[in-house]
Amino acid sequence: MMHTTTEDPTKLYTSGTYPEQKQERPGIQAKMTPVPDCGEKTYSGSGKLTGRKALITGGDSGIGRAAAIAYAREGADVVLNYLPSEQEDALQVRDLIEKAGRKAILLPGDLSDENFCKQLVAHAAKQLDGLDILTLVAGMQHASKSIEEIPSDILRRTFEVNVFSLYWTVQAALPYLPKGASIITTSSVQGYNPSPDLLSYAPTKSAIIAFTKGLAKELAPKGIRVNSVAPGPIWTPLQVSGGQLPGSIPKFGQSSEFKRAGQPAELASVYVMLASNDSSFVTGQIYGVTGGLPTA
Ligand code: NAD
Ligand code: MG
Repeated sequence: MMHTTTEDPTKLYTSGTYPEQKQERPGIQAKMTPVPDCGEKTYSGSGKLTGRKALITGGDSGIGRAAAIAYAREGADVVLNYLPSEQEDALQVRDLIEKAGRKAILLPGDLSDENFCKQLVAHAAKQLDGLDILTLVAGMQHASKSIEEIPSDILRRTFEVNVFSLYWTVQAALPYLPKGASIITTSSVQGYNPSPDLLSYAPTKSAIIAFTKGLAKELAPKGIRVNSVAPGPIWTPLQVSGGQLPGSIPKFGQSSEFKRAGQPAELASVYVMLASNDSSFVTGQIYGVTGGLPTA
């Protein structure tokens, strides 16, 4: 007999405060206290992505890692992209994917480079012998006290990584994507309700929302679905490597209705659903996983 249990969402994971901590960008998950939960010990698949071929950007840590673990346990082969400095995180994910009995291919490199984006997609499709899930999770976030303090190089890079790379990877992927393929972007509650200290970041997330909705219309006749996941505050390396102003980490996530941050594991099932045939009539949608913060 199957047993199901209810879990109180206000009591799950850390309650109380996080220790203040700071890393260089992009941050290493294993060095965080506490280490985020990406479903390593808990996610169990049921064949929803059997035989599928996925490229996941930002797949080494945080939300992308949770998606990678879930995809593999659902039966997909996975290519992971991340920055070369994140190799130690990526190796852990490769190990978990291989333990799930699936292929894991590591293709590190910088998505702010158009040529790299094109090569990444071509190599991924070659190594997987096709491509039918493009899950775009990579992103950078830089907190600044005021608009006057946003360095121009950070501003440019944030738009390149968060927005331009989506154009470049999708352009390169379209020739490979069959009918039934799924593209998933990663936006944010910040795209709807921007924090003043994230002015170099929040508008990139509004751009991703518009990109997702418009691309969904363009690709619907080709049988390709395009959706976005909009996370609320999630405990990941991005937050402890310049994503928050100094002193903000202890209370991170307490603005959610559950008065806590989410964990990457809590997003995995949504990335799976949007990739799988379970969402065959879903396109152009922005799917909030926010602990109750508004996505409108
Ligand atoms: P994360 O640090 O674990 O993941 C971000 C990843 O982006 C990194 O692991 C890195 O591999 C990748 N990346 C950054 N710059 C890159 C570059 N130039 N080239 C290639 N890869 C690069 O943090 P996360 O929070 O899991 O972030 C994943 C996504 O979720 C991001 O798009 C972020 O904006 C979004 N998001 C996060 C939160 C949150 O609270 N953590 C909230 C809303 C949206
Ligand atoms: Mg990382």
